[in-house]
Amino acid sequence: MADVTSPPFFDGHNDTILKILMGKATVPDIVQGYGAGHIDLPRARKGGFGGGFFAIFVPSPADSSDRMEKLNAGDYDLPLPAMLEQPAALEFVNRGFEVFADLESAGAITICRSAGEIAVALEGETMAAVMHIEGAEAIGPDLAELEDLHARGLRSLGPVWSRPTIFGEGVPFRYPSTGDIGNGLTEAGKRLVKECNRLKIMIDLSHLNEKGMDDVAALSDAPLVATHSNAYEVCPHARNLTDRQLAQIAESDGMVGINLASGFLRPDGQMNGDFELDVLLRHLDHLIKKLGEDRVGLGSDFDGALVPKGIGDCAGLPNLRAAMTERGVDAPLMTKLTHGNWLRVLRKTWGE
Ligand code: ZN
Repeated sequence: MADVTSPPFFDGHNDTILKILMGKATVPDIVQGYGAGHIDLPRARKGGFGGGFFAIFVPSPADSSDRMEKLNAGDYDLPLPAMLEQPAALEFVNRGFEVFADLESAGAITICRSAGEIAVALEGETMAAVMHIEGAEAIGPDLAELEDLHARGLRSLGPVWSRPTIFGEGVPFRYPSTGDIGNGLTEAGKRLVKECNRLKIMIDLSHLNEKGMDDVAALSDAPLVATHSNAYEVCPHARNLTDRQLAQIAESDGMVGINLASGFLRPDGQMNGDFELDVLLRHLDHLIKKLGEDRVGLGSDFDGALVPKGIGDCAGLPNLRAAMTERGVDAPLMTKLTHGNWLRVLRKTWGE
């Protein structure tokens, strides 16, 4: 019988670190398994979830608890929280780094700083974990913190989550809408791009608005990557990428990780997981058509989004492999889409 856990997925985005920082999961929960959330080690093994980018995200003080409700109300446009103060953001990020260390010493993850280390970790018993910060609030305008964060293992950075930073503007949760909302990168944002290039930190374009992405495309010497975004052509959400943006990514030889958030998958933009995986496969088809077979992967948003019922959590990834196989994805392409493309793009971005 075929091994339903193989090939392993390497994933563009999860929010498991935040779950722990918010007290909704503990390090032992992730090691031993628990009845909530989307990711823990036993379920990762069951589903062939080999690891991915683990995000540190600094929440806003009064994070809207009724966001889900509003995302189910037809068209929507949620207001963005205010900017964060840099010292408090850095303190929270430092706590995130401690969680990484705790998860590694407990045997749940292996922190990876190169594509070679990811390839080795994917063969092992722990989850491969790349350190990512979603929203650069912890970094000041002189970028002094960036070198230290890199030295401590940071390999990927999103200049913005959805709320603005001193570097640029993210897109709001708006449907229907393109991502062409707001201004491009600030002067500090442009310096941040060049400094990330110098340090070989991957720049994540998911959440950035369209003018900001144009600025990164003009300035960056690295492949353009959106770790957890979908096709605007299938679901016209502000978080998704238009064909023009997909052409920019293809031209740079970058890639896109498909986001499992229901509201970014469903053509009607509703945050409701009750739909067929065929909807997800329409994004896959479109992204492959526009980007080619070497530039598409997974960017689950596990532990940060409402995912389709047909997947449920990382133990449900065999259902995704089965649906892809049924769609005509053969073994070599399956290897690329599950982890090969991520390794290829990360080798190009980080070097060996
Ligand atoms: Zn995100």
